[in-house]
Amino acid sequence: MQIIRFQFRDEPLQYGWLQGNEVGRMDGNPFTGYQRLDPEILLDRVKLLPPVVPGKIICVGRNYPEHAKELNNDQPTLPILFIKPASAVIGPGAPIELPPQSTQVDYEGELAVVIGKKGRWISVDRVKEFIFGYTISNDVTARDLQKADGQWTRAKGFDTFCPLGPLIETDFNPFDAVVTTHINGQLRQMASTRDMTFSVHQLIAFISSIMTLDPGDVILTGTPAGVGPLADGDMVRVSIEGIGELLNPVVKTGSDSQVSYL
Ligand code: ZN
Repeated sequence: MQIIRFQFRDEPLQYGWLQGNEVGRMDGNPFTGYQRLDPEILLDRVKLLPPVVPGKIICVGRNYPEHAKELNNDQPTLPILFIKPASAVIGPGAPIELPPQSTQVDYEGELAVVIGKKGRWISVDRVKEFIFGYTISNDVTARDLQKADGQWTRAKGFDTFCPLGPLIETDFNPFDAVVTTHINGQLRQMASTRDMTFSVHQLIAFISSIMTLDPGDVILTGTPAGVGPLADGDMVRVSIEGIGELLNPVVKTGSDSQVSYL
């Protein structure tokens, strides 16, 4: 099943499900219980929102050997984790804003997992029952600030640095799906999830040995090789076979005020 969140006319923001190019409303919430209503709205009449409102976003660094290599990093022996704030999330079509503090903001196309059930100390063989579905993400990163800071909160945490969408696919095989990123129509990243150092199931088992995973939490599983900078006016398209395409334009922003930020 394909699940979206959307805005339609003056109705409250809501979850829905897709059938072809039609949207069905949902009575209830996909994470707590719902009933599907008949599809009766054309997809192009709704504004798509991020398909989930995450409590937390846990990300994995250097999970594709070729990407670790391209930035001159060793391959990790355990998953490298960091967290993006929920305030960084934007939906399909929303602009990625280049902040004035950075001179190099990179795209990172990634497969994202949406958790469906609360869990801690989840063993690899039980992971599947805790997964709600999969979506597409872009782990936008201020590379210069990441290098300058050592730790990654500032570089990864700006508003708009976590595009998610366009939908959650609940029926998806995460072990051999092709992830591609195009900038202005030009191919920049392409790899299969089978190249991941740590599989989706291993990642979830590992993360749940540290923190409780809750319904709606999102895990970004790492980016393939081919990362590179974004410029004002670019259009980023991250595609994953079996899920769809996540498109976001890029815009340059100034600070909101004349007040110095330090
Ligand atoms: Zn990443």
